[in-house]
Amino acid sequence: MNPVVAIDGPSASGKSTVARRVAARLGFAYVDTGAMYRAVTWRLLHEGIDPAATEAVADFARRMDFRAIICGGATRLECNGPILPEDLRSPTVSSAVALVARVPEVRARLVEEQRSLRPLAPLVMEGRDIGSVVFPDTGHKFYLDASPEVREARRHLQGEQDAIGRRDDIDRSRTVAPLRIAQDAQVIDSSSLSIDEVVDAVIASLEKVGLRHSPPGGATP
Ligand code: C5P
Repeated sequence: MNPVVAIDGPSASGKSTVARRVAARLGFAYVDTGAMYRAVTWRLLHEGIDPAATEAVADFARRMDFRAIICGGATRLECNGPILPEDLRSPTVSSAVALVARVPEVRARLVEEQRSLRPLAPLVMEGRDIGSVVFPDTGHKFYLDASPEVREARRHLQGEQDAIGRRDDIDRSRTVAPLRIAQDAQVIDSSSLSIDEVVDAVIASLEKVGLRHSPPGGATP
């Protein structure tokens, strides 16, 4: 079975940049599961469905044609048609995505898709529930955190309008797969660390247990 490195944490904890770099260093495919929840949200909004209307969202999720396709070490998404990466970080999507992600039917379909990627390549997968729900059996779990002030400042620097406090509250309090630290995850507080320092810490910890660079398409023990 291909190895999976799970990187979870709240919004703007630095996990996307860290996960992408760790994947590049290891030669693993990088999978951003937040983008999957954003893709569903974008399509719902595009089809005029209210993201707060739980039943309508659940019904959409039961019918949607969702696909995540690994290509060139990254993932391309389709949800009832192609999804453009540049559409996923708009303020409208950012403010609605946590409402969509709390609907069990949405999560069930996306978790199924996430699990289906493992046989295809060694993975670095980032999200909120990768270590706790999607791949609880992986031995490589990290939980990245940073103080609320540092996270707000990071979003601001990225020029994004994103009410991360409200989003995190919804993510932490939902009934299915809430954001939490998996029991056996290594917690890294990145408040006073550079991205490189966090990446180095993750790589060092993986090397300690024998996980090293793997050529594309090849599995490591
Ligand atoms: O990672 P990102 O901030 O893009 O995630 C957007 C939203 O998608 C999160 O706030 C959360 O509501 C949802 N999400 C989730 N489970 C994941 C990844 C993201 O619920 N594994």
